[in-house]
Amino acid sequence: MFKDLNETWDLDVIFPGGSGSSEFSAYLDSLESDIASLSGEQASREGDAAGDVSKWVAKLEKIQDLSRRLRHAGAFISCLTAQDVNDKGARILSGRVRQLQAAFNSVMTMVDKEILEMSDSEWASLLEEENLKPVAFNLNERRERAKLLLPPEQETLANELSVDGYHGWSDLYDLVTGKMTITIEEKGKPVTLSPGQASNRMSSPDPAFRAHVMSRWEQAWAEQAELCALALNRLAGFRLALYKKRGWSSVLDEPLEYNRMSRKTLDVMWDTINENKGRLVAYMRRKQKVLGLESLGWQDLGAPVGNAASKMSYDEAAEFIVDQFARVSPAMAALATRAFKERWIEAEDRPGKRMGGFCTSFPESKTSRIFVTFSGTLGNVATLAHELGHAFHQSVMNDLPPLAQQYAMNVAETASTLSEMIVADASVKYAKSPAERLMLIDDKLNRAVSLLMNIQCRFLFETRFYEERKKGMVSVQRLNELMVEAQKEAFADSLGLYHPHFWASKLHFYNTRVPFYNFPYTFGFLFSAGVYAEALSGRGGFEDKYRNLLRDTGRMRVEDLAASHLGVDLTKKDFWQSAIDTVLSDLDEYLRITE
Ligand SMILES: [Zn+2]
Repeated sequence: MFKDLNETWDLDVIFPGGSGSSEFSAYLDSLESDIASLSGEQASREGDAAGDVSKWVAKLEKIQDLSRRLRHAGAFISCLTAQDVNDKGARILSGRVRQLQAAFNSVMTMVDKEILEMSDSEWASLLEEENLKPVAFNLNERRERAKLLLPPEQETLANELSVDGYHGWSDLYDLVTGKMTITIEEKGKPVTLSPGQASNRMSSPDPAFRAHVMSRWEQAWAEQAELCALALNRLAGFRLALYKKRGWSSVLDEPLEYNRMSRKTLDVMWDTINENKGRLVAYMRRKQKVLGLESLGWQDLGAPVGNAASKMSYDEAAEFIVDQFARVSPAMAALATRAFKERWIEAEDRPGKRMGGFCTSFPESKTSRIFVTFSGTLGNVATLAHELGHAFHQSVMNDLPPLAQQYAMNVAETASTLSEMIVADASVKYAKSPAERLMLIDDKLNRAVSLLMNIQCRFLFETRFYEERKKGMVSVQRLNELMVEAQKEAFADSLGLYHPHFWASKLHFYNTRVPFYNFPYTFGFLFSAGVYAEALSGRGGFEDKYRNLLRDTGRMRVEDLAASHLGVDLTKKDFWQSAIDTVLSDLDEYLRITE
């Protein structure tokens, strides 16, 4: 079905000419003037009746139009800066889009002020308006959140200062790490790699080579540690200062609210995971024996077990993913086919690309773009399936109003993780030999270790780092200590070698758009296990149920989403325990066949 697929994406159909595109420049000009005009209208609204319904309907239409166009522009920038880290023009454009986002946020702060001026009864009658019903949840949420902020003038100032004083640190990190290279010895020759390429080498079957790559990796990050620590301390300082002014006592307030979940749900999730650590450790102990190692190091976690030779070409990966999606949902398969054929995916393995993978969406064209570095490993195939899950999620929401499309990261990871699970399970089922079956089961269990332990160490580190940062700057040495402590706790002391500079190498700690870019992954993983159990139940009608659940991700708290579409209570251990049982369902077989 797929032959000679192009491994680079097509951005020209969106705006021709990359960072030099005159169309894109004109697009930003018109966006800028429309934001300015809304800002002007908002500033001169003195004396308006705040409860004038028709004005509100018109205003919300404008706001949604601007947010849609800003998203479109932001998506283009993400693609440009990822495909070539040396694209200076893209960096300048990125700054411009950030200014526009900040200007738009300032307008929204003025809108929030107006929202807060309304009485509860005025507000309630406004939400009765037919045109506003589809976004009533989002408007209410906005009003409740606005109540927790500083007076609008102060929020506006903080927002403007954040461009250089907060997000700028994240830019610095991207710049420093984008230029980084790591030189390793491979087959007797020195080879210079980007961090993304070096990280792929860690899945080599040769333990000595993995250890070599790991030591060069750690060394390379140690060399950049002072710069990374400065960026991390400064952006954290900005965040803490703002929280203090707002009177928010916990650094988790913002990420929990952003993810529309309660502290109770988060705590119950981690508690249930901790109760199951023994099973994860049993898996790792066995893996260590299978690999014939004296101890299991950080670099061995992703090491292949069994028939490691199995690699896939890009065409084969495409075919495999589409076939597996088709077994669960024809609509998912159709979307993935479109993504491969219409060049939505940048997969080429070359230097100069940003690390990691992502999916971003272009609301004007109702299409998505996926960024990965594909070298044919099983992990690469999983990442590809993951990002296609994001694209599918977006595709079922395209017809909703922009305000109702804003889903948070924890549920954003539901569709992506479900896609990965489908592909992983299918791989096991259709394994060509017992050795391959073992390798694939190992890969699934390894994913559980990543999401339940590796992500937990990031969460523990970040929580503790922010506590210490409240008292002052945290040194490189202390960051290393905090990181190793967090790793020991999360991995239940089961590793022989830890990764002290993980706080420097993991770009998620530097993301100023989404604080605590970690626990939502774990949530999404286990939540999607619950959804997957529904798909496997054979009750029928899964595609419709799944689509409806995804469509509500932008307009429900997660506890309500789970209750109404899955009939479960996220604040109780039962759900989490059964989700963990689902993701560890192959553990017994693994222990038996490796006896
Ligand atoms: Zn994702």
